[in-house]
Formats: sequence, structure tokens, C-alpha cells
Amino acid sequence: MPPIEQYIRDVPDFPKPGIVFKDITPLLQSAEGLRESIETLARLVDPHSYEIVCGIESRGFIFGTALALHVGKGFVPIRKPGKLPWKTASQSYELEYGTDTLEIHTDAVTEGQGVLIVDDLLATGGTMEAAAKLVREIGAVPVACVLVLELTFLKGRERLGDLPVHSLMKF
Ligand code: AMP
Repeated sequence: MPPIEQYIRDVPDFPKPGIVFKDITPLLQSAEGLRESIETLARLVDPHSYEIVCGIESRGFIFGTALALHVGKGFVPIRKPGKLPWKTASQSYELEYGTDTLEIHTDAVTEGQGVLIVDDLLATGGTMEAAAKLVREIGAVPVACVLVLELTFLKGRERLGDLPVHSLMKF
């Protein structure tokens, strides 16, 4: 199997000029790449330290659900506003231009449950910071977060304070 980095495609100027988009679809397309990425993500954090997996819409759903299944845990979606049908908690966060919001069902976890948060990529860390706040707001404990990719020059982990951050690939 080629190194896992070879399954990441750089797409310049997507979705807007100046952004180099890290396309994970070649990784998903490869049976070995997909299996290797889920198995490795699962090994980054001791499964005894958390009880449930949260994934951030939408690529966090792909890796998060597969990881949850792999370690024998349930899955909770953190979604864009207006998508979840039940009672929600929400957190807004700053983007380069404007703000964005994430939501979670208020009954998605039980009080004090340990949560592993999953997304595909850590850039500025704003998305993961909002997700961790949501988990705390509904009474659970973010234990760690795992990501397939990390853009280290954007220093996203500095925004996350004490929350342990693990990524498969650093660029
Ligand atoms: P941030 O909140 O700045 O850490 O951005 C992380 C979120 O934006 C993740 O959900 C990523 O899917 C997405 N994202 C940010 N930058 C990129 C990029 N260069 N390539 C692909 N996805 C990105």
C-alpha cells in the first residue's frame, strides 16, 4: 500500500481562490486507504477513555461513524444549523468572513459521558473548538479529538487548550 499521504489530492483554488483544498475522496475510494485510516484513527486514542463518538458534518460523519463501528461505540452527529429535528444546543464561531454555527441534540449524550470528536481536517481550529463547546454544554466531557489531516501552520491546536489533538497526517 502507498503511504496514506498519497491518497490526499490537493485542489488549488477550491472552493475559492487562494485555498488549497485537501480532497479526501481518493482515500475513501481506496479499500486499503479507508481501512488503514480508520484503524489508525482508532489506535490514536484508547477506546476505554471514551464512551461515544461525535462527528462533525459532513466529512466527520464518514470517518466518525466508521471509527465508532470499529471500536464498538455509538455515534452522535454535530450538524449545520436547522438540520437536527429535536431539541438542540448551538454554538456560533468566527470564519474568515462572517460566522458559522453548529448544533447537537441536547439528549445526544448522558451527563458526564466521555466523548471522542472526529473531523476530517483541522485548519484554524474554530470548528473543533465549537464542537468541543457543544459537547461540554450538553454535560459531556470531550476526551480527545482525532482528525485525518492537520494544517499545522494554522495552529488550530492552540485554540483547543487542554483538549488532546491527534491527526493522521500533518501538512
Ligand atoms: P477550521 O474551523 O478552520 O479548523 O476548518 C476546519 C473545517 O473546514 C473542517 O470541517 C474542514 O472540512 C474544512 N476545511 C478547512 N480548510 C480546508 C482545506 N484546506 N481543505 C479541506 N477542508 C478544509
